[in-house]
Formats: sequence, C-alpha cells, structure tokens
Amino acid sequence: MAEWPYNTRNWQRLRLAKLAENPLCHACELRGRIAPAVAVDHVKAIKAGGDPFPSFDGLMSLCERCHNEKTNAVDRPDRAASGRRFKGFDVHGNPIDPGDDWHGGGA
Ligand SMILES: [Zn+2]
Repeated sequence: MAEWPYNTRNWQRLRLAKLAENPLCHACELRGRIAPAVAVDHVKAIKAGGDPFPSFDGLMSLCERCHNEKTNAVDRPDRAASGRRFKGFDVHGNPIDPGDDWHGGGA
C-alpha cells in the first residue's frame, strides 16, 4: 500500500524520530491548538523536488485531521498546480492566513 519512500526502513526510522522530536501537530500548534501528531509529512513534496529523507526541518508532524486535509488538498494531481498547499504559514512561525480554509475555515 505504501509507496516509496514510505515503505522503506529509512523512512520508518525517520518518521518515528520526527514524531519523538515533535509529538504535536505542527499545523495545529501554529493555530494555538494541541493535537497529537500521527503522521509525518514532507514540507516540500518529493514530487516537487523535495528530499525524500530530509532533516527534521524538512518534515512536519501532523495530526490525522490535518494530514487528511492536507492530503486531500494537495496530493491530487488536479490540484497540485494550485499552490494552495501551505499558503499562509511557514516554518518560521509567520501567522497562518486566517482566510485559509485549510482547516475547514473554522475559528
Ligand atoms: Zn493538526
């Protein structure tokens, strides 16, 4: 089911290490929420030229909801070009665009 690199031992190890380092959802944290992370996602998609096995800086922990929403919004070929991916927030802690509907537009 899982595709490369997610089916590799390297990725499994990296994922667990990232979750141990950042056990909370990154996106929720930026929004002032606490949610346990269950998934690790690439900040820069592999298909966009990202490193499959980046350092922690190139990864982010996400809770199930955020991961699903991100996956639905981004990892689809017909939407990949929209650039909506992580519009409004970045790894440097800049505010998330309040108009971004990535989280369903709530709050
Ligand atoms: Zn989340």
